[in-house]
Amino acid sequence: MSWGMLGQNFNVAGVTIFMSTLAGRRYLAIPHISVQDINQVDWKALREAGFKGCVFDKDNTLTLPYAAAVHAPVLRSLEECKAAFPERVVMLSNSAGLEQFDPDGSKAEALEKQLNIPVLRHKSKKPGGGPEALEAFFECEARQLIMIGDRYFTDVVYGNRNGMLTIRPAPFTTEGESTVIKTVRMFEDHKIRRWTGRGIQAPVHNMLPNSEALGIDWTKDE
Ligand SMILES: [Mg+2]
Repeated sequence: MSWGMLGQNFNVAGVTIFMSTLAGRRYLAIPHISVQDINQVDWKALREAGFKGCVFDKDNTLTLPYAAAVHAPVLRSLEECKAAFPERVVMLSNSAGLEQFDPDGSKAEALEKQLNIPVLRHKSKKPGGGPEALEAFFECEARQLIMIGDRYFTDVVYGNRNGMLTIRPAPFTTEGESTVIKTVRMFEDHKIRRWTGRGIQAPVHNMLPNSEALGIDWTKDE
């Protein structure tokens, strides 16, 4: 088992614990925007709406699970994102750049070379942790940033907790993911379907452009 797999499995405990604190704040797990993949995101429209930077998860958002290269079908969208937000795109991983797993930052450095995106150095795993590292990197408020990630209870909860706009692409594949991760993912999907079915919506974000401007569907329509 690689250190990356180990890291993701350890996080299951964190997610389970976090679930108990989500009661009454379930809206935190609902993304503002749901897409099949990032090709559906209009980065220019988001920049024009006033957003100042993009924060990406890695596995199943930009790369296949544990892969070290951007998944070819989303490469162009990532380049468009970088063009819309020059020097203002970063990766926030629960492995590379996380102090407890990557104390000297060597994993982050290797990943930066492979993906050509800066990897944020930080101390807490999503969904835990505040916006400090991001706000220092971008020199703006977290609510002006966009969090893009495939996991409801890590990426989306982290982004919403910190007042960011949250975009949730569906995972590329569950192949190569551990049984534990697959199980947690099924659990998450089930809960989200139930909650959105009951009308629970993402937290209000006052910079969110209307759906027509973005040309995509909202989570609540799922
Ligand atoms: Mg992921």
